[in-house]
Amino acid sequence: MYKELTSFCTDNTIILVAVSKTRSNAAILDLYQKGQRIFGENRVQELKQKFETLPQDIDWHMIGHLQSNKVKQIAPFVKLIHSGSSLSLLKEINKQARNNDRIIDVLLQIKIGKEEAKSGWDKSELLEQFENQNISSLNHIQFRGVMGMATFTSDEEIVRSEFSELKSTFDQLSESYFNDQKSFDTVSMGMSGDYKIAAEEGATMVRIGSLLFQ
Ligand SMILES: *Cc1c(COP(=O)(O)O)cnc(C)c1O
Repeated sequence: MYKELTSFCTDNTIILVAVSKTRSNAAILDLYQKGQRIFGENRVQELKQKFETLPQDIDWHMIGHLQSNKVKQIAPFVKLIHSGSSLSLLKEINKQARNNDRIIDVLLQIKIGKEEAKSGWDKSELLEQFENQNISSLNHIQFRGVMGMATFTSDEEIVRSEFSELKSTFDQLSESYFNDQKSFDTVSMGMSGDYKIAAEEGATMVRIGSLLFQ
């Protein structure tokens, strides 16, 4: 499956994040040996432990809900945070990045799915923060784009319309607040069950776990 997925991603110029949460170091090393260098985790403790025990040239992405009081633990090494989902969290990431003399890459997680439990910005709320310049002043963060999770449903049209909405939010942010800067280039959407639809709707990064590690 790894080969199939990497060629799908290459064909569509998409970056593959191998979601390795709950997987063993041995399983991760197996993919590493095949050439995979980007792995995503959703818990701080596990992310930190894997960073410390696996090869140093792995890029570690934080893809899950992040509590402000845990940012400190991953700030020295995390490569990309997909879950930038509130102003207080962004401020804490900015602060810890500054303490580590780093600029950390972050995606704005936007709520597109219907499940209440899913975190992320409401689009209107996010635009308001940009209008008030609360976000653009965080100069130890490099905003790279957006992330979202579609509703967990077998109805493809719902999934497609949510991905399409995320892509258009990305386009709007890029134009209005990032001057179409080249560094604002990432639309992280699509998982094992819906990555093909995500690709068709403009994903530039997919996060795949179960399909890769079965
Ligand atoms: C677990 C997870 C994934 C991967 O899900 P699969 O269905 O196993 O591919 C992607 N994104 C997030 C945020 C996750 O927590």
